[in-house]
Amino acid sequence: MPDGRPSIPAVLRRSVLEEAGYSCAIPTCRAMTTEIAHIEPYAKVRDHTFDNLIALCPNCHTRYDVRKDIPKASIVAYKRNLAVLNGRYSDLERRLLEEGAGYPPGQWIPIHIGVRILIRNLIADGLLTEVDDFIYKITGNDLGGIKTTEFYQFTEKGREFMERWRDAEPLID
Ligand SMILES: [Zn+2]
Repeated sequence: MPDGRPSIPAVLRRSVLEEAGYSCAIPTCRAMTTEIAHIEPYAKVRDHTFDNLIALCPNCHTRYDVRKDIPKASIVAYKRNLAVLNGRYSDLERRLLEEGAGYPPGQWIPIHIGVRILIRNLIADGLLTEVDDFIYKITGNDLGGIKTTEFYQFTEKGREFMERWRDAEPLID
């Protein structure tokens, strides 16, 4: 490093990248990345700590650090929201929340019954709900009477949750 600062220890690097799934922590970006940014500049804190580090892609890192067009308050909020998401939701649930933000209201999401256990907290929290059995029975999605796929959709509450994440608002009041 040009300013003589120590590099980020490998274990810490990995934890920070894992926290964001090796993707940019900005919900509307989510580009794959292995780059890490300091929330408070290193020059100020002179330390590497988990709470002050966040995975950002090279573009967003430049927008934050150099061009200053992403406010620090937003980055702090994204970091805090990652902790909420990781503490509560599975990898599949987080991917659904990322993808779902771009879905039109009422979009059906097929889920194989074998992975239903991985979405149970989204359902328990009322963010995702199964499409009414009757509606998809009459569309002929039951092949030979053996149901292997269920259809889900985000609830109004789920859509609000995704909007709060995107807008860097607290996910939990
Ligand atoms: Zn990015």
